Order: sequence, then C-alpha cells, then structure tokens
Amino acid sequence: MQNIVDFIQKTFNTAEFIPLHEPRFMGNEKKYLNECIDSTFVSSVGKFVDEFEKKIAQFTGAKYAVATTNGTSALHISLLLAGVERGDEVITQPLTFIATCNAINYTGAASVFVDVDLDTMGLSPKSLKEFLNANCEIVNSTCRNKTSGKTIKACVPMHTFGHPCRIDEIKEICDAWHIALVEDAAESLGSYYKERHTGTFGLLGAISFNGNKIITSGGGGCIITNDETLAKKAKHITTTAKIPHRWEYSHDMIGYNYRLPNINAALLVAQLEQIENFLQNKRVLAKEYKNFFAACENVRFIKEPQESLSNYWLNAIILKDKQERDRFLEFSNNSGVMTRPIWTLMNRLEMFKECQCGDLTNATYLEERVVNIPSSVRI
Ligand SMILES: *Cc1c(COP(=O)(O)O)cnc(C)c1O
Repeated sequence: MQNIVDFIQKTFNTAEFIPLHEPRFMGNEKKYLNECIDSTFVSSVGKFVDEFEKKIAQFTGAKYAVATTNGTSALHISLLLAGVERGDEVITQPLTFIATCNAINYTGAASVFVDVDLDTMGLSPKSLKEFLNANCEIVNSTCRNKTSGKTIKACVPMHTFGHPCRIDEIKEICDAWHIALVEDAAESLGSYYKERHTGTFGLLGAISFNGNKIITSGGGGCIITNDETLAKKAKHITTTAKIPHRWEYSHDMIGYNYRLPNINAALLVAQLEQIENFLQNKRVLAKEYKNFFAACENVRFIKEPQESLSNYWLNAIILKDKQERDRFLEFSNNSGVMTRPIWTLMNRLEMFKECQCGDLTNATYLEERVVNIPSSVRI
C-alpha cells in the first residue's frame, strides 16, 4: 500500500494532499467572466449560453444541445420528454451516483435495477435482456412488467467514470421492447463508443458540468439530442414554458427554471476550449497508472473497455476483497492521498429498498472492491 501511495505522490509530484479531482482553469475563463459581467447579462439570457450550446453540440456530434442548471435537471427533463410519467418504471443500474435515481423519482416513476458488466461497470445488455424476458411482456406496443403490472417506459444506462457501456446492444434491446433510451452521460463527456460520442445513442443524453466533472461551470449540465422537436421542447420546458412575446407573460404548461445562467456558460465556453488538452493529459495519467498496476499483485487497474475511447474521468482500481479495500481507503486517506469507494448500491438505500431488482452479482462484486484514485489534469 505504501508503494501505491508513493507512486501517486511521485506521479502528482507532491507530498501534499492530493484531491480526487480538481478543476483546472487555465484558459479564457477570467476573460469571458469579465466580458459577461461587463455586459450585465449574467443571468438567464446572454450570448454565452447560445455559444456554448452550439459548441457542445459540435463537440459531441449531437444535432442539438440545451444547457441546464445541472446534470440532474438535464436527466429529469430528458425522462419527462421520453414520456416517463407518474406510476411508470424506469430500468437503470444500481451502481450509479444517486442523481440518476433521484431524477427518475422526480417524474413520479420508480427505478428497477438491472446488473452491470464487470468490465464497463455500466448497464449489462445481457442482464437487461434476461430481466425483460423473465419479467416483461409487450402489450399494445408498451413494455409491461408482469410482476408490478406497471409500464417500463425508459431505460437509463450510465457510462461509469467515463467508460462507455455496451450502448449499441442496449439500444437494440430497448427498441425491440418499446423502451425509450435515455443516457446518463454525466461522467462521459469526451468518451466514445465505436467512434460515436456517448449520450448520442439514445433519444436524449444528459451531461453534467459539476465542479468534479471533466469540465465545469461550477454547476451546470446539458441535454443532447438529434431530435429537433425534443430539443425545442427541452428548451421550452427548462425556461418556464414561456410563450415568446415581447412583453406578455404567458406559459402553456408547468415549466421549470432549469436554465443555465449566462455567467456559468461563460466559464463553460472557456473550459470547452481546453477539453482536448484535458483528455490527452488524462490519457497519459491513465497509461502511467496502467503500467504501474500491471506489476501490482492483487490490484487491478480498470482500463477502457473494448471498442471504446474513454475520457478516463476518474481512474479506478479493483482490490482483492472488501477488507483490502477498507485497508487501502484508510491507509491512502491517512497519507494525504484522497481515494473514495464506488457508490453504495442504490437498492440498499432506504428510499429505493422496495425497488425491483434483477440478479446483481456484478454490481455487488464491484461495490465491495472498486476505489477511485486521484485523477486531476496534471499541470
Ligand atoms: C454528476 C452526476 C450526475 C448529476 O450531475 P449534477 O450536475 O451534479 O446534478 C448524474 N449522474 C451521474 C452518474 C453523475 O456522476
């Protein structure tokens, strides 16, 4: 364990505290922030929002992007636009950040948990298919869960730590079962599966720009989609559903104040200009980790899955068992090297205890063993 800590300190060239993931502001951030403040358009309208939406669409290859206050709100609206309603069910993975399930619950739907693959840590197409075959039937072109009697309206796979899951196979299964695919791409900006950007396989994808993500606006998020109608609806519903008029206030549905402020968008435009450098820098770090851990007994470094290009947002290792994991967490954090275990499975949390689960062997295995190690862009 000492050797791992030594290596991380050497890698980051410091004996001081090493955080898990720090933001880097090395470009035009201050310049654009000043411009934004000088313009007085710091809030819900302004040129940086429009510019950012155009540029993030370009970067991901999505036709449309709508900026939002955070990744959770992007997911919430994506689910609503995918047709998820109160009383529906949404399939997702139990090994994810709480925001995925919170967003599902905001719509009034309930989560159903299906296992992940061991290599991607994302939703397993095999487990998804098995769950659907065992529990569901198609009635009037909708997927009915025979156990609960409810409709499975959507499926939300997540690209864990930036490693793409087998999203094309998942898409095929969802299509066959009349289930809308919404991607939680919160962690995977700059990650590609079969040369296509994550978040663009489903009907809609949600990205986060929280402070710990690969680029940040402090807080922020966006919805990406190739569907023009959905993009227009996303814009409308995230901006209080106001009918455009020069002076009148009229709204045609319950909307949300989920619009990203221009001042955050200013920061984000500057961050996006640096993303290629960030990605390259993170690949070099991942490679150094990979080489180091190749010689470590009982520790496995998680590499990018096959046919994928990962952003390596958070590097992760798999320890031998839970006891080893706990020892390593204790030792590294005591040594000033910040490490964190992967999330507690969602189905163990009080709020989601009643949710239906498939077989969760892989998720349980990873839950007990996976630890994130420092992954910031190095200066
Ligand atoms: C960060 C994150 C989110 C939510 O993003 P916020 O911007 O923090 O709301 C959603 N899902 C996953 C998997 C995340 O890691």
